Amino acid sequence: MQLVQLIYASKKAENFNRQDIEAILACSRENNVKQAITGVLCFSQDFFLQCLEGGRAEVNALYTRITHDPRHLQPYIIDYSEIAERSFSKWAMGYLPETQVSRELVLRYSAVDEFDPAHLSAAGALGFLRSLSATI
Ligand code: FAD
Repeated sequence: MQLVQLIYASKKAENFNRQDIEAILACSRENNVKQAITGVLCFSQDFFLQCLEGGRAEVNALYTRITHDPRHLQPYIIDYSEIAERSFSKWAMGYLPETQVSRELVLRYSAVDEFDPAHLSAAGALGFLRSLSATI
């Protein structure tokens, strides 16, 4: 089974509230362990940026399920790659909170100083998530 990494972004739904994050993380951690999926989820400025790592079939099935979730809108894939090793192997789903998203970190990876995944390249999105995860 080929190991893959998928990075996508989306926008929160109108009625999304911060308690929904807790529910998403609890469900994700329970499901992902069973599927040997790892990754991180960042929520900031109304946007989600998530990295999913695992077997191709498991990651594809999870991403398809996530795209149908009404708690967010307009998901789009930023990168999908076969990988030699995981970047976030210690997290079934690590949460990277908005409080850790500094202007300096955003500027390091994008041309603007406000977090918007649309401004991130594939390498930039991974670099951003790696750097952010190193702060928690
Ligand atoms: P069920 O729990 O049976 O739910 C059926 C439907 O209702 C699904 O479409 C589900 O998305 C939706 N739903 C479930 N709870 C709510 C709610 N509180 N409000 C509105 N709709 C709801 N799941 C993972 O397993 N791993 C992840 O890494 C992961 N990351 C996510 C990241 C984001 C940004 C979002 C929004 C969701 C994420 N989820 C993740 C949740 C995923 O979308 C599914 O809800 C979850 O996997 C359960 O799937 P299910 O088919 O068993 O749905």
